[in-house]
Amino acid sequence: MRVKSAGKVYLIGAGPGDAGLLTRRGAELLQRADVVIYDLLVNPQLLRLARENAEIISRGKRTQFSQEQINQLLIAKAREGKTVVRLKGGDPYIFGRGGEEAEALAAAKIYFEVVPGVSSIVAAPNYAGIPLTHRDFCSSFTVFTGHENSGDAKTNLRYEQIAKIPGTKIVLMGTENLDDWTKSLIAHGMSPEIPVAIVESGTQGKQKSISGTLATIAKLAAKEKISPPALTVIGDVVKLRGKLNWSENRPLSGKRIVVTRARGQATEFLQKLSELGAEVLEIPAIKTVPPTRREDIVDALLELNSYDWLIFTSANGVKSFFDLFFKRFHDLRDIGGAKIAAVGPRTAATLRELHLQVDAMPEEFVGRKIAEALTKLGSIENEKICLLRAEDANPDLPLALEEFGAIVDDIGVYKTVAETEDFFGVAKNFVEHGADWITFTSSSTLEFFHKRFDLPKLLKQFPKMKIASIGPETSKAIRALKLDPNVEAKTHTTDGIIAALLK
Ligand code: SAH
Repeated sequence: MRVKSAGKVYLIGAGPGDAGLLTRRGAELLQRADVVIYDLLVNPQLLRLARENAEIISRGKRTQFSQEQINQLLIAKAREGKTVVRLKGGDPYIFGRGGEEAEALAAAKIYFEVVPGVSSIVAAPNYAGIPLTHRDFCSSFTVFTGHENSGDAKTNLRYEQIAKIPGTKIVLMGTENLDDWTKSLIAHGMSPEIPVAIVESGTQGKQKSISGTLATIAKLAAKEKISPPALTVIGDVVKLRGKLNWSENRPLSGKRIVVTRARGQATEFLQKLSELGAEVLEIPAIKTVPPTRREDIVDALLELNSYDWLIFTSANGVKSFFDLFFKRFHDLRDIGGAKIAAVGPRTAATLRELHLQVDAMPEEFVGRKIAEALTKLGSIENEKICLLRAEDANPDLPLALEEFGAIVDDIGVYKTVAETEDFFGVAKNFVEHGADWITFTSSSTLEFFHKRFDLPKLLKQFPKMKIASIGPETSKAIRALKLDPNVEAKTHTTDGIIAALLK
């Protein structure tokens, strides 16, 4: 009999929002977790680090669960022998009730560890260009909450004392009662002229910061509709914001950009957009599943040696083909001696990762151009060609190859179907608030996206929303909806789309 191993709970600080600010220890444990219980402040992108079959549960202050229920859930999952990750915004022990969760685990004699996180206290001012200390201005900082249980003798804040402490002050959870506590500080002797900034959604693509003075900030925040999560910084260091606000001055800062590519195929694109400051909405329109006509691929695998050419038209085709290939064979040499063609640089790069040389790389996704690229290495008349691509893909390519006399087997190695799941509520948020750009990286992402959201209708609702297309084929599909792409990438890659957006 196998003895059930004891469960463990890891309280992990997820950082303030930017997914890159999770610690390495946190990432490592997240990858190992059986259960992830996350807070509402946590960037949902981080949940992608978890294993595919991990149980992912949302539990935070604004969900309908009490702290006691959350504690009991942690204990119950650990008692089932599971590795539990409790993921909390910022640092788990700072205003996040992490201390209470750890106490409950200690009382229940459950093994736990706490992984510190980058707190919004330091990260949000940093990303807004505000160093918390600076030799010219101050040599201390004080943090307090603006959301107090009044009358609680253990925690009650003494504004008369806070008003007298020198140095920077950071106020968490303070935007609701902003008017009250700013007035209170002034009443207790703090200068109404002292610079104050508010940072909303610090370190995230939608970060927004404003500044004024202790006297003006409450009105300003109301006017700018500041909403949580937001923190307030008080002190002369706020003056540096104009000079040092690196994150809000990035080329795509403040832009909401929808990425419609299949999940898992957009990682690099998403990261580059985020690094340029954009708020990225990942709404995959498609997903790939195994092909329906299995017998085709089985036959092709048995005859690989008889082909003169193998043609791949997408990175996904390469991946899907080799997934199927290695189910049958254990040695790459079984691929045989056919020449290999890859349409587009990404497809070629994916093959090279497998240490396979690409003999021809047609740049353009046009049947005739692809056929011509192959003929550069000699006539393809009577050559046997195996096309490894999506099932039921456009027949133009095999027809063009046949015009040059080739014998073509068009093999579906994967199938593209609609993605309908709304990962972490991003699609709902998009439908309610729109975006600045929607990016389409293929005609199929466009078609499936349109089926799901009705693109012309969406554009009527959000007339400022723009469309970016990766190339002529995708643009053609956009025009078929009587719409016009606002930009089309010059090079037909996601980098090409980024270059077009930057213009
Ligand atoms: N443990 C968290 C704080 C939790 S309390 C940490 O260490 O950051 C929640 C408060 O934190 C919010 O009301 C807000 O004041 C602040 N906060 C959290 N994330 C923030 C962010 N990305 N930008 C600005 N403030 C943030």
